[in-house]
Amino acid sequence: MRVLTALCLSLFVSTSYAVCDKNADKLIKAYPKQLAACEDNYIIWHNGEKQIFDDGREKNFKQLLNEPDLEDMFKTPYPVGKDSYAEPAFNSDAGRFRNEEFFKRLYGQSSKAVKQQLVPIDWMPKSSNKTVRMTGVNEVAQKLAQVSTELDELPAEFKKYLIKTSGTYNWRVISGTNRLSAHSFAIAIDINAQMANYWKWAGKNYRYQNNIPHEIVEIFEKHGFIWGGKWYHYDTMHFEYRPELL
Ligand SMILES: [Zn+2]
Repeated sequence: MRVLTALCLSLFVSTSYAVCDKNADKLIKAYPKQLAACEDNYIIWHNGEKQIFDDGREKNFKQLLNEPDLEDMFKTPYPVGKDSYAEPAFNSDAGRFRNEEFFKRLYGQSSKAVKQQLVPIDWMPKSSNKTVRMTGVNEVAQKLAQVSTELDELPAEFKKYLIKTSGTYNWRVISGTNRLSAHSFAIAIDINAQMANYWKWAGKNYRYQNNIPHEIVEIFEKHGFIWGGKWYHYDTMHFEYRPELL
């Protein structure tokens, strides 16, 4: 009887939870230096730590932003390819559900810890003398350097979006929230804010807006960075290293 109960229980769990599904595999594949496996609904880190994958809770949009588990980070698929530039559907914000504990474990638990791993990059060296800093963890800085090299090869009319940047590392909360921004972990870069659109700037009259050319987006995506211009709550200057979504 006890065996039967256990069997029924495990069947119940496996049908109602997304225990170690294909998204768990994507996570492990994206961060192989830190993540070893997914077992029994736990992501196992190489250092032996465990983190629950799916807490089994149904969440509304606000809860997904404020208290996502690892499984919730995949709730909205990130659109890629030529047809992926349509106006985002209501609350379609792929990548904005970030499990803060996960990113702290990956990139640093504090401002000081993240800072210690920053690596300088010559930003578009053919076109500027600027240096930007990103985390060296997961070779994010090296990947941004590859992005920078390719952006530098774009025709002159693209430079106005790119040469002036609007920030990389900055340990801060997202305005109007208690949530740490991706910039806190030094995995995000804002390109020229003067050429960008941000949903909050539009005020009460929401309207999707974008001026950033797709050629720029495609170079970032190729190296593992998602773009905030594919969010309903658009932030078109924002790029963030999230290879698990690409
Ligand atoms: Zn940003």
